[in-house]
Amino acid sequence: MKRSNWCAELSPADAGNRVRLSGWVNRRRDLGGLIFIDLRDRTGLVQVVIEPDNADAFATAERVRSEFVLHVSGTVRERPAEQRKGSGAGAVEVVAEELTILSEARTPPFLLDGSIDASAVSEELRLRHRYLDLRRPAAAAPIRLRHQVTKAIWDHLDSRGFIQVETPLLTRSTPEGARDFVVPSRLSPGEFYALPQSPQLFKQMLMIGGFERYFQIARCFRDEDLRADRQPDFTQLDIEVSFVDQEDIISLNEELISFILERTHGEAPATPFPRLSYADALNRYGSDKPDIRFGLELKDATALFRESGFQAFSKAIKAGAVTKVLPVPAEDAAGVSRKVISELETHAKQHGAGGLAWLRRSGDGFSGPIAKFLDNELAGLRELAPDEGDLLLFVTADWTTACTALGAVRLLLADQLGLRSGPGFSFLWVVDFPLFEQDEEGGLSYMHHPFTMPVTEDVHLLTDDPLAVRAQAYDLVLNGNEIGGGSIRIHDPEIQKQVFEVLGFSDSEARERFGFFLDALEYGTPPHGGVAWGLDRFIMLLAGTDSIRDTIAFPKNQSGDDPLTGAPAGLEPEQLAELALRVAE
Ligand code: ASP
Repeated sequence: MKRSNWCAELSPADAGNRVRLSGWVNRRRDLGGLIFIDLRDRTGLVQVVIEPDNADAFATAERVRSEFVLHVSGTVRERPAEQRKGSGAGAVEVVAEELTILSEARTPPFLLDGSIDASAVSEELRLRHRYLDLRRPAAAAPIRLRHQVTKAIWDHLDSRGFIQVETPLLTRSTPEGARDFVVPSRLSPGEFYALPQSPQLFKQMLMIGGFERYFQIARCFRDEDLRADRQPDFTQLDIEVSFVDQEDIISLNEELISFILERTHGEAPATPFPRLSYADALNRYGSDKPDIRFGLELKDATALFRESGFQAFSKAIKAGAVTKVLPVPAEDAAGVSRKVISELETHAKQHGAGGLAWLRRSGDGFSGPIAKFLDNELAGLRELAPDEGDLLLFVTADWTTACTALGAVRLLLADQLGLRSGPGFSFLWVVDFPLFEQDEEGGLSYMHHPFTMPVTEDVHLLTDDPLAVRAQAYDLVLNGNEIGGGSIRIHDPEIQKQVFEVLGFSDSEARERFGFFLDALEYGTPPHGGVAWGLDRFIMLLAGTDSIRDTIAFPKNQSGDDPLTGAPAGLEPEQLAELALRVAE
């Protein structure tokens, strides 16, 4: 069964050599007199020829079907010039001397030989037979890339003195803004472990423990409503470093990304990566993870409409709203019909806007449903739309909603204009986040997590004006996707207490949830900070696929189920009893 060579590594240089190969039948062609088998191993394909005068092998080959597992011994020969595909394995074939069937295979539920496009097969079917799907080189490629990326991470961080430490999976809740997945304890009936939303507190305690430089390829679990690119269990690259400031963490990340991309793509991105403040990101792009590969920047038109005869705007502005405008130049606006505008409006409404007003430059004035209300604004509007056919799209709402709704319109429009599919990697840091945000109940919640350090000059605002406090936090964005985020942490127990107070945790609540950590902070905590990347999403973008499921060997589907194993599944009554659990009707 041993092999002497890998299929796809054969080449004309091997002509005349006897080789032993093992692998799967990618495809078999029976030309009556001759049988051809494309044999596949982890490296790729080579053609095997079985000639009729080799009666034993020929009889075996006649039984062979797709995906049978074979061992072949034979001699390499060059293919005739007109049949060559390239200069490697496609330029040779192996004339079989012996052919052994190591395993037979049922007819696969979908073809794996590359003759059909995988997207024609339902993802559910492919996930149910993921072990077969992974035999397709296109399905295996992101998994191999993932290995290369994690290897590069290990190599680079190890060379910088980092060590990889595993933190517990059965633990207590870590607040990252999602629900916990919980695991019942059999030995302590009625008590539950939480699976980590991140290793946050453990990595901070490793800093208190003196390691100074930590990383982990960490499995994390967040019970959130599923979206296309979310998985309930996912992987982070988790990093923490002592005696650093924000600049150190940012340059560490830029070096690491350069190292990875040089290995995987042969080219590092330009550094330093551009930076935007959170406020600018929202103001200019309507997103805290802006795609800056194209322009279409938002502008503010609040002043223009403050005294406007268009009361829908002026009244709202007087009540505190802002008007944001997305100017679309005529060459892009040409294809934006009324139908497209109404699709954009639906999208804006889904993002909280009351509507999407529009104007199109026509001569000295404007056309569009709100044009008749306008007069004093015209000069200002002409500046926003200087050329015939330029289009202006407006949302009036509170600042965040106006920005994000118009930002969503910007992205949808860019998709339709084909501006988002360009090659290349456009990294960006978003910095200067607020530490807190208003939550739905009118209280304050943390924007990142409650262990994030305020900007030093803002600490005095914690009590009087917490919403004005900026965080020493940073998000890493790639092509409009948030791929990472982190912060400098609070290492002063007093500040940590103040932050908990702002968040409305009473002393006893804070002690109940994080007492162990608050204690640890009091034993000599070095200044420290770190970051975590969503590794699945990062690899998705590097691989150029559009689903994080492609980067995970055994992913869940979009409902969080695993079609292969059938998880999640019910429990036997005995198991429930052992765990002291009863399922509610
Ligand atoms: N724990 C954070 C997260 O999972 C990352 C960090 O602050 O390092 O998003």
